[in-house]
Amino acid sequence: MKSFENINVRSVKEAVGLLQKFNGEKKTAQVVSGGTELLQLMKERVATPQYLINLKTIPGLSYIKEERSGFRIGALTTLTEIEENKSVQEKLLFLSQAAGEAASPQLRNAGTIGGNICQRPFCWYFRSASFTCLRKGGELCYAVTGDSRFHAILGGGPSYIVHPSDMAPALIAFGARIKIAGPAGEKTIPLEKFFVLPQVDYKRENILQPGEIVTEIQIPHPRTGSKGFYHKVRERQAWDHPIVSVSTVLQAKDGTCQEARVVLGGVAPVPWRAAKAEAFLRGKKVDEAAARQAGEIALDGARPMKDNGYKVGLAKSLIQRALLASV
Ligand SMILES: Cc1cc2nc3c(=O)[nH]c(=O)nc-3n(C[C@H](O)[C@H](O)[C@H](O)COP(=O)(O)OP(=O)(O)OC[C@H]3O[C@@H](n4cnc5c(N)ncnc54)[C@H](O)[C@@H]3O)c2cc1C
Repeated sequence: MKSFENINVRSVKEAVGLLQKFNGEKKTAQVVSGGTELLQLMKERVATPQYLINLKTIPGLSYIKEERSGFRIGALTTLTEIEENKSVQEKLLFLSQAAGEAASPQLRNAGTIGGNICQRPFCWYFRSASFTCLRKGGELCYAVTGDSRFHAILGGGPSYIVHPSDMAPALIAFGARIKIAGPAGEKTIPLEKFFVLPQVDYKRENILQPGEIVTEIQIPHPRTGSKGFYHKVRERQAWDHPIVSVSTVLQAKDGTCQEARVVLGGVAPVPWRAAKAEAFLRGKKVDEAAARQAGEIALDGARPMKDNGYKVGLAKSLIQRALLASV
């Protein structure tokens, strides 16, 4: 690992100020929360920041608050705290399950929601120092000619990574928003607008600008009568990212869908919202035929690579299963 200086900060303002200062001095600085993902990249010398701004020393950034409008979760809240919170378990349908299925118990104890959403891709070419791939300033996405078993089938090109977080697709299914602090103050935006497709910028995964950090996730209460479903398919049962995951939140009356949210993980460089399938479902009786059709619509336009055609059928049947379980 390349040597670096660790700076424990006491406030969001101090963290933002330091990031801005180092950026102005053309020095590389990065924030760290649990460190479970970033330190791996540093050991591989894929990330080589000169300064680590340690957010864990900021008091009051780890909380789960239930309010009239919904839940507010501080960026430093660990995945274990989300998994074990009683109100989250009771009211946020499958969010506790999604947190409990991410990574391993040790990683969930240290890993935070802010870090989970901002984690970098788990593509083997990206994470290996032996490959200077497109995302690291090279000229090629090695998945195009190499091993593409776990890469994108939707929204890829010129880079074909898949978004790695279990939490982000689940949160988007709930209509979550993300609060960001930066040199210009604070802003809150829909979480689905936080992520960036490679056609927009293939070197970054989100919209964070230098000096900006995530401070909070806001989740509205699910509408009355909503049901949810979360399922993650992975290669191994222990600490593994999703090959395909599906999160659905369906509001139905007498089996007829009034509102639907269908979000896939593991298939695209961003959490993939199946908006056309959602529109198709609105006003429909959710039976086997409609659920199957929704799966077909969601995967219409999928472009599997050499080794990952299996993800198309898998995603379709997961959507079908999720919808039938949500009415
Ligand atoms: C072996 C392994 C298996 C895993 N499996 C899964 C899995 O199945 N599902 C899953 O969802 N995740 C998985 N993960 C990821 C794991 O959940 C994350 O490591 C963890 O949630 C990241 O949180 P952290 O606080 O440790 O982040 P850190 O390692 O501290 O940071 C991760 C990244 O986010 C940035 N960052 C951190 N906090 C903030 C903030 N507040 N604002 C802006 N940027 C920030 C850092 O600069 C860094 O780029 C796995 C990780 C490992 C190492």
